[in-house]
Amino acid sequence: MTKFSSSGGAKKLVNVLRQAGITNDKVLSVIEQTPRQFFMPESLAHKAYENTALPIGNGQTISQPLMVATMTQLLIQHNCSRVLEIGTGSGYQTAILAQLVDQVFSVERIAQLQYQAKRRLRNLDLHNVAMRHGDGWEGWRSKAPFDGIIVTAAAAQIPDALVEQLADGGVLIIPVGEQQQTLTVLRRFGDNIEQQRIGDVRFVPLVKGELL
Ligand code: SAH
Repeated sequence: MTKFSSSGGAKKLVNVLRQAGITNDKVLSVIEQTPRQFFMPESLAHKAYENTALPIGNGQTISQPLMVATMTQLLIQHNCSRVLEIGTGSGYQTAILAQLVDQVFSVERIAQLQYQAKRRLRNLDLHNVAMRHGDGWEGWRSKAPFDGIIVTAAAAQIPDALVEQLADGGVLIIPVGEQQQTLTVLRRFGDNIEQQRIGDVRFVPLVKGELL
């Protein structure tokens, strides 16, 4: 999709991602065309195409582009149409997903971040996203089942609700752990669960507790 025009910075970032092992051309092209600077405070916009996580307020971060690309690539190789994202944050990963799958559902516990993300997606004309202010440990039961679920914060354990809300053949991509975190891919086939460990990662925690 050529929805937005890409910048020189975005092209360089895509080369960095390619060299780091991202091979899916659809993922690379959507990253190239999505203005990452829209998803962060203006004072950090000059760093938008660096391959780093950056602060977005409320103690949270916009994920590192390589992590967004890795998780998105793992997801879309399974032909996902309805995708649940836990941890909307800036909305950047949401915007990438919205250009690659039919429908995105995204849950965020911090109302202020959710509000900003909603506005950004609207401004970019991405309308196939539904957002909910809620606790990601619960998933989004009334919209289940999902072909794919992406969690962009680290969970101490895999939340049962998310496994239950996966369609048959569905895929859950989630960082698991506290200090030591492992990016994990879980697939559900009927009552059988298959798990694969991808590698060590570092995410903010998937918080248990009140909504803000
Ligand atoms: N994909 C986002 C990552 C944001 S960081 C981006 O690139 O911008 C992780 C997000 O998960 C934060 O916004 C945080 O508030 C949210 N989060 C943490 N615990 C949560 C929970 N229990 N339910 C929903 N969202 C949660």
